[in-house]
Amino acid sequence: MNEQESRPSGSNPKEINSKLGHLFIISAPSGGGKTTLSKAVVNRFNDIFYSISYTTRSPRDGEQDGVDYYFIQKKDFEKRIENGYWAEWAEVHGNYYGTSVEFLDKGLDSGNDMLLDIDVQGTIQILGRYPDSVTIFIMPPSLETLRKRLEMRRTESRVTIERRLLNAEDEISQKGLYRHVIVNDQLSVSIDKLIAIIEKYRYPNKPDKCLK
Ligand code: ADP
Ligand code: 5GP
Repeated sequence: MNEQESRPSGSNPKEINSKLGHLFIISAPSGGGKTTLSKAVVNRFNDIFYSISYTTRSPRDGEQDGVDYYFIQKKDFEKRIENGYWAEWAEVHGNYYGTSVEFLDKGLDSGNDMLLDIDVQGTIQILGRYPDSVTIFIMPPSLETLRKRLEMRRTESRVTIERRLLNAEDEISQKGLYRHVIVNDQLSVSIDKLIAIIEKYRYPNKPDKCLK
């Protein structure tokens, strides 16, 4: 579990999306490090657009509406399901989460690269719509480490942590759906690996030292 696996899809990175921009998807069990790694990507590439998801869960301390998520009511979310507002949506840990189809399509059609931080259910839906998306799964080094990181983050109650850990095993069992897997042990190494994967698709002619 401690080495990066890489699954070339066989598709030419130049043709990676039927739309113009590249679509990168990052998933991980809760506490796996996807928020930390997504932020590192956005800091590194100021021309990759992070898709801010919508959720019906309550904001955590320090989270801002329109920055971390758009926090909306359940009724509003369900109305948007009926109206076809979502490129994908899912119920995760008892709350709804979704991605705006308009935001995604506008970005990709304008040639922008987009980054989604979504769960496995959402990834399956996005692959149905955008089959050439670059999917990256972030693995914790172990379930014990995952538990410690969730506890150290101090954003969840004990019950919520247990619920997230239960889901984690199920999510990890689906990592085979993803084209790339990074084991998030040492953070700086994980960031380098993630950036190397993204650069491979953005700059296919650039020599690549990190990915073999
Ligand atoms: P997620 O978004 O997947 O729920 P976070 O990015 O919030 O996960 O990470 C969970 C916690 O673990 C955070 O407190 C974060 O700072 C910490 N963390 C993330 N990656 C590492 C790492 N490689 N080593 C140690 N701590 C990490
Ligand atoms: P959290 O509540 O910890 O921010 O996120 C919980 C889970 O919801 C994570 O697995 C995260 O990837 C997922 N998630 C966040 N936004 C979306 C989204 O727009 N769609 C889907 N399907 N999952 C999301």
